[in-house]
Amino acid sequence: MEQTLVILKPSAVERRLIGKIISRIEDRGFIITGMKMMQLDENILREHYAHLVDKPFFPSIVESMTASPVIVMCLKGVEAVSVFRTMTGVTNGRNAAPGTLRGDFCLSGQANIIHASDSVENAILELNRFFKPEEIFDYTPSNISFFYGDDELK
Ligand code: ADP
Repeated sequence: MEQTLVILKPSAVERRLIGKIISRIEDRGFIITGMKMMQLDENILREHYAHLVDKPFFPSIVESMTASPVIVMCLKGVEAVSVFRTMTGVTNGRNAAPGTLRGDFCLSGQANIIHASDSVENAILELNRFFKPEEIFDYTPSNISFFYGDDELK
């Protein structure tokens, strides 16, 4: 199974949406294999958002992403990276489809409540960026056969 990195941004923490978002993640069937609260700083954000560092709005991203602690999570599931990106919705919450997390919980392109890895390669890099190896618990629930067919787990 794949693992993917999720960040519940300050816009989720400050708006007290953490519980609702985690419920949606669990209801969908993802296995939470890592979760902690941490305070981000500019250094880690320059790495994490390297593709945006030169944009005029980068200082604003740093300000919004350091405004409070965040929750970082590792989710496990079959095709977890692409399935969770779809569940996240497009970047701008105003354009995100109803039923997605961004489409249900936000109205902003910046304060868009959640980050999700966009590829399997980036998920591996991002999990290493935010978690120590011992902070990810690679267990599989005993009732996994009620979440996936046998062929899907091979
Ligand atoms: P995504 O988070 O959907 O993968 P990006 O990697 O393009 O999207 O952007 C990372 C984050 O940077 C976005 O989630 C959003 O918080 C912020 N961001 C992106 N574009 C803008 C913008 N034009 N103005 C302000 N913030 C932005």
